[in-house]
Amino acid sequence: MKYTSTIVTVFLLVITGLPALTGCAKTSTGGKSIVVTYSILGSIVKDLVGGNATVTVSIPNGQDPHDWEPSARDIETINNADLVIENGLGLEAGLGKTLTQARNSGVKFFTASDHITVRHVGQGEGIPSGDPDQAIGAPDPHLWMDPLTMKDVVAALAPVLKDLLQVDVSAQALDLENRLASLNSEIAGTVSQIPQADRKLVTGHESMGYFAQRYGFKLVGVIIPSLSSQAEVSAADLASLKQAILDNNVQAIFTELGTSPVVAKAIGDETGVKVIELATHILPPDGSYFTFIRGLANTITAALK
Ligand SMILES: [Zn+2]
Repeated sequence: MKYTSTIVTVFLLVITGLPALTGCAKTSTGGKSIVVTYSILGSIVKDLVGGNATVTVSIPNGQDPHDWEPSARDIETINNADLVIENGLGLEAGLGKTLTQARNSGVKFFTASDHITVRHVGQGEGIPSGDPDQAIGAPDPHLWMDPLTMKDVVAALAPVLKDLLQVDVSAQALDLENRLASLNSEIAGTVSQIPQADRKLVTGHESMGYFAQRYGFKLVGVIIPSLSSQAEVSAADLASLKQAILDNNVQAIFTELGTSPVVAKAIGDETGVKVIELATHILPPDGSYFTFIRGLANTITAALK
């Protein structure tokens, strides 16, 4: 398979007229090459690694991680990595086959979700739809929504970088863990402006579970009744969601990547609840996880307080 994808890559480079050099990200620096599947996890890894290795993110910022599929060149970059860092729990569904093949061919992996307390879908959070991903007990891949979960990832990754790549980032890890702990306190302070009775979330898909668990929010429902943003919306799901919004006196409906603006607007119009866009899967222009979480907390707080 590796041989085949090399052929495909070379072919694509020839037909697109790109210089052959751009096809190989690894040889340019001479350093170790780390590939992170997803931009938000990639931001934290870049903070941790600094200039000690080359960090490449596969899924471009702004693309839906749940359904993004790699090009031949992306596959080659993954196969050439000294270490691949993935989220796990099915987040990178479109990359799944590529990651399995790389793992089987001996590429080293670090799976972030192996090192955290995994959150599972709880009773009454979503609208029962028969979708297996929405079943009570399904593991939630959106682990970046809690700074303390990311702190666990950093603590687990630092020794792996040292053991596998001989890259010692223990000092940076300590600093980053402290900053993530401070970020958690800051976010708790921000959302404390929202009365407890109004800490209720309706989102595009079930992406805010770790945030809700950490900061005491109730998950009332989701527009797409699945952990992934790929599922279809049924009329019965929408009717149940509208009822849950009214029953819970929900103050805002948050749309995100993958949410249909038309569906969200219809629900907002019919319930009289404002619709607000929330960046749950996209890094801000400065590329910082810290700015990302602050922006998320500020948007939610402004909408619900
Ligand atoms: Zn998602």
